[in-house]
Amino acid sequence: MKVGVDTGSQTVGIAATTEGEAIYQAEVHLRNDISSKLTQRRQYRCTRRSRKTRYRAARFANRRHKPGWLPPSLRSKAEATIKAVRFVASLLPVCQINVEIGSFDTQKIQDPEISGLQYQQGELQGYLVREYLLTKWQRQCAYCQKSGLPLQIEHLVPKSRGGSDRVSNLVIACEACNARKGKRTAAEFGYPHLQAQARPPLKDAAHVSTIKTAVVSSLQAEFGADHIRVTYGYETKYQRIQVLNLPKSHTNDAIAIACAIGEVVKPSGIVYQARCIARGNYQLYNGKHSEHRVWAPRKVKGWKLFELVEAKGQIGYIGGRRLMGAFVIKEVATGKKLLEVTPRKLRRLARTQQSWVIVKQPSGTKEERASSSV
Ligand SMILES: [Zn+2]
Repeated sequence: MKVGVDTGSQTVGIAATTEGEAIYQAEVHLRNDISSKLTQRRQYRCTRRSRKTRYRAARFANRRHKPGWLPPSLRSKAEATIKAVRFVASLLPVCQINVEIGSFDTQKIQDPEISGLQYQQGELQGYLVREYLLTKWQRQCAYCQKSGLPLQIEHLVPKSRGGSDRVSNLVIACEACNARKGKRTAAEFGYPHLQAQARPPLKDAAHVSTIKTAVVSSLQAEFGADHIRVTYGYETKYQRIQVLNLPKSHTNDAIAIACAIGEVVKPSGIVYQARCIARGNYQLYNGKHSEHRVWAPRKVKGWKLFELVEAKGQIGYIGGRRLMGAFVIKEVATGKKLLEVTPRKLRRLARTQQSWVIVKQPSGTKEERASSSV
């Protein structure tokens, strides 16, 4: 069985495939509150120490980080990713884990401007060239510098005027600029510097982010280096669009990452939504000078925070409790407020385990689900 991991900073996609079928798909929603919680803790300690201690020697300059140290916010994300893989491995026998680490392989494209890498050399190559160009032009239109809109591959010297498909003749442009340029060359269009190749070819631009490096190395340590394979975004994109014909989502990307290029896999209809949550609230005192003992007990009317519950036909987790009045129920997939309901109306589905809540959902977007159920 093969596992695909689509790492991300907010959401991680995980899929397990075997013999042409996806048997497990999950989205893991990572924590975003680490940084603010640590700031809060630091402030509490700071004020407490200044209050309790007459003099403290300066100690800010005698700290060292061990090699491989990650900032706590990133460490939480990396560890949650590994935990999600470990969870799959505890359920199913895993023989290979694929992790996407960058949009393209810099080793594979050595001097693309000179080596004559071409756009039309097969479909997979096209995706590679596209990711390379997007990085080279910083995902902006080369002419109007706009970003965040659909970008196309554009020939500096048009093919109709004898321009080649080589990378050095290609830029990224928006549809409007592409249409406006028409059959002119870039120099005739008013951008001679683009044709003179003013921009140097990028060197190692598709660098691997620290969190991905950390995930790959910990997975290698845990599962053995020969069971981990790294893949690239252009392969995922090609596989998802051309071979599997699936819409973009974290779990669909994970399926594309899990399978080999050209392998056809049928997605399962179910996606597990998992949300990472805090183990507990360790705050003891409230108030400006920590003068009030925190009153919130472990259980309010018999309910703990983050329990998975059903209320009024909707499934969510307890995001907020009040001694008087309604509880706040939040959706697992988005973390947004679903409804407020009195605790009498709640039905317990599960308590939190391993500091996450997991819920089963049919796959597809909310709109797709709504239209298919009608
Ligand atoms: Zn443009």
